[in-house]
Amino acid sequence: MNDTYSFGAFVDQRDGLDWYADDSVLQQVLRHYAGDDWESADRAARRISPLVAGPWRRLAEEAARPEMRPRVLHYDGFGERIDRLERPMQIEKLENEVFSLGLFSKTTPPWSRLIQLLLIYENGEACIACPLVCTEGLIALLERFADRPETHAILSHCRDGHDGHFAIGAQYLSEIQGGSDVPANVAEAVPDGDGWRIFGQKFFCSATHADYAVITARPRGSDTIGLFVMQSYENQSSKRRNGFTIDRLKWKMGTVELPTAEITLNGARAWQVGPIDRGVANVTGIVLTTSRLTVGLSSAANMIRAVREARLYADFRTAFGQPIGHYPLVIGQLQTLARRAHETLAGAFKIYRDSLSLPDGFRGGLASGEPENLRRRAFRVRELVMLQKLVASLDSTDVLRGAMSIFGGHGIMEDFSALPRLFRDSAINELWEGPRNVLLTQIHRDLQRAAHFYPAAAFVQDLLAGAPSTVIDPLAKEAATLVAHPSLLTPDDATVAIAGRLEQWAHVLMHAYQAQALREVETKKGFQTAKP
Ligand SMILES: Cc1cc2nc3c(=O)[nH]c(=O)nc-3n(C[C@H](O)[C@H](O)[C@H](O)COP(=O)(O)OP(=O)(O)OC[C@H]3O[C@@H](n4cnc5c(N)ncnc54)[C@H](O)[C@@H]3O)c2cc1C
Repeated sequence: MNDTYSFGAFVDQRDGLDWYADDSVLQQVLRHYAGDDWESADRAARRISPLVAGPWRRLAEEAARPEMRPRVLHYDGFGERIDRLERPMQIEKLENEVFSLGLFSKTTPPWSRLIQLLLIYENGEACIACPLVCTEGLIALLERFADRPETHAILSHCRDGHDGHFAIGAQYLSEIQGGSDVPANVAEAVPDGDGWRIFGQKFFCSATHADYAVITARPRGSDTIGLFVMQSYENQSSKRRNGFTIDRLKWKMGTVELPTAEITLNGARAWQVGPIDRGVANVTGIVLTTSRLTVGLSSAANMIRAVREARLYADFRTAFGQPIGHYPLVIGQLQTLARRAHETLAGAFKIYRDSLSLPDGFRGGLASGEPENLRRRAFRVRELVMLQKLVASLDSTDVLRGAMSIFGGHGIMEDFSALPRLFRDSAINELWEGPRNVLLTQIHRDLQRAAHFYPAAAFVQDLLAGAPSTVIDPLAKEAATLVAHPSLLTPDDATVAIAGRLEQWAHVLMHAYQAQALREVETKKGFQTAKP
């Protein structure tokens, strides 16, 4: 009788897992790439994992219900315009607990931060991932450019906390006429005393509940774009917005727990960050590069979780008298999904390790005047971050879709597993922080600009060091051909063909890099494979 059927055994096992302690591949990848930091990172992961997989997972799931969507309260009962964001208490609790970890504080070692972020991202957006990413970008920017009491105070509030409260950052770049084309921003910055006032509209403002935002605007009368930081309220205790209104919240397909607003700035007070004519270079080279690195990490996190749950389900569910996980078609699909998830994970950790080794961290543009070998290393990291962002975010939707199909019809049920939510969130990862075409165009331009100190073929050879020459050689040769094409901006047949080849090359190159990153771990003595 069908009515005796129960999913209980599967649900109990899935919800009882410890996402770090039960994942031998994750542990080994961390051990390999974290180097001397491994012990503290391992301890941090073991401490946080039961929380992430237990109470935080449940909060994220409750907050994902349709009736929990954020909304904006424009006026209070006294007719005051307040534009307050109302979010469910589950999100506020999760946010308090996650941000009070002080993940970006100087006392948190980099690998402890990374592994905790990865585990947190396994819960999808949950109105946590984007605020974390934006806060990290704001901190990286201010660590480089804070030069006055106000910007130092914002930095310390975000990084080290004030009286135990850790502030949240946002980033407001995109305008209605173009998100990719930041140089075309029309929002204006007008000098006001020792600061600036911002006027204009921003069309995609996520984490609108944040305490501070990085914002791009054109200094009045200038051809260039400046970069500024503003606080969200007039002052810390005020409920009045700092010279802007929240016009509406967007109705989105993914990251639905996260408010994304359209706002109008009408003289918001802001502080300049970095040279006034270097706004685009600094927001791209520091803020967006930091965010893009994290998009790669969260794509890996989504995949790992999806594969883990699909495997469990394949063991549990029977069809035609045997567990579906015994069917060769399912075995093969799960192996492919797991391989992609683990390669993405290893690639993300390897890029992070290399980014930590850059003495000056991320920066705007292609620097000159430093030893060639350092310049090449920085260039590799810069390109890898973009390659990973565009490839891993696409793979993540593929892996999620594949994992959902192992669940059959239950795969698309929002209250059966988190996979549909992670799938919708993954689709957003493809778009924000630079969509794929913009990144591919930038990579092509970068390879051309770097050709005098780093020929494209040599770049590929270094990137894939250790991989078989049958993998490296065709990719190096193709890189040289792609770079020889003068520009991607002419809409003729030859350029369309080159653009398609560039896209294909980027994916094959990144997959080869990720495969090599995992191979490095697997060829270590004592490596234990995960099932199946
Ligand atoms: C859920 C969500 C939240 C967001 N939150 C924020 C936020 O908090 N802050 C913020 O500033 N922005 C945010 N964005 C905006 C996001 O960064 C932009 O959507 C993105 O930059 C693309 O801009 P656009 O949507 O205007 O597309 P467009 O720039 O109009 O691009 C449309 C298409 O044209 C392609 N294209 C553009 N330029 C080129 C080129 N040179 N060569 C080839 N193809 C090109 C793009 O790849 C894309 O496929 C958010 C977006 C989403 C979906």
